[in-house]
Amino acid sequence: MRRGFRIALPNGLVGDPLVVVRVPWLPRVLLLDAGDAAGLTPRTLLDAADVLISHPHVDHVFGLARLLRVRLGRPERPLRLLGPPGLAARVRSHLGGYSWNLVEAFPLDLTVVEIHPDRTETWRFPTSAGFEPYAVGRGPAPDRAPVLADELLEVRAAPLDHGGIPSIAYRVEERRGLQVDPAEVGRMGLAPGPWLGELKAAVRRGAPEDEPLALPDGGTAAVGALRDRLLRVTEGDTLAYACDATPSESNVAALVALARGVRRLVIEAHYLDADLDLARRNAHLTAAIAGRVAREAGVDAVMPLHVSPRYEERVDAVLAELAAAAAPAAVETP
Ligand SMILES: [Zn+2]
Ligand SMILES: [Zn+2]
Repeated sequence: MRRGFRIALPNGLVGDPLVVVRVPWLPRVLLLDAGDAAGLTPRTLLDAADVLISHPHVDHVFGLARLLRVRLGRPERPLRLLGPPGLAARVRSHLGGYSWNLVEAFPLDLTVVEIHPDRTETWRFPTSAGFEPYAVGRGPAPDRAPVLADELLEVRAAPLDHGGIPSIAYRVEERRGLQVDPAEVGRMGLAPGPWLGELKAAVRRGAPEDEPLALPDGGTAAVGALRDRLLRVTEGDTLAYACDATPSESNVAALVALARGVRRLVIEAHYLDADLDLARRNAHLTAAIAGRVAREAGVDAVMPLHVSPRYEERVDAVLAELAAAAAPAAVETP
């Protein structure tokens, strides 16, 4: 059975951009933008580990207030926000709107990663200092290295132009999954335990085939042989996300390069191509351009969002335009 990201658009095709991406089997949620979050359950708000923000127009970040509110007093749940330059100061001014004299009882584990053209900057917001942020590190330019990488996910970013401000597009790759075959463990006469986690960790870090691993019965066995017998390797899922970008050739080229070969592209289809003048003036993509990106990037499926409310009564026309331009990529709606 193929595992894969489970994706939901709680605000639908026309509402504020907010995409919930659930990582299979784990209580880990990735949010793509954070528009109105009223529809999210407390569980989802608690499980959200990372928020990938395209740009700070109000319809894309309004929901951060609810997310931060729910995470106060839950320091065991670190929260990381990624977004364009200036994000740390924006989060600081939001938090600065409240009194924090009794905050010690409500700690918050908050990190902000700003994605600049030539570097990333990481900021921490210590509760003890009233959330006054301080920079903790710099990373390489986003075109040279992932902006986020951990044992589960790798995220790359590319800045697009959105009427003169950067709007960051993201590519998310799930690392290869390693699943234990419990029947085979039983056939070896071994009890499950932490040693299986150690085996997975050894495989993930590319340990030599003959590296010995301690078994629960006191013996040892080679990592390579254990991997072949006990682990099933599944390919990780992939997606790309782009929301709010000027309909320019340079944006299309940057997006096609970022989204190349992903399984699913989640992208704004704000206007119909018949309203390209409006799209240019308001710095949004059209359904036809979104579809073209999907086709040229060779994705399997394209999921639209952020359709202009002017098409509320004829969303079908937007979907049809997207489908025609995207083929053979399929159009997926939540
Ligand atoms: Zn928008
Ligand atoms: Zn915008």
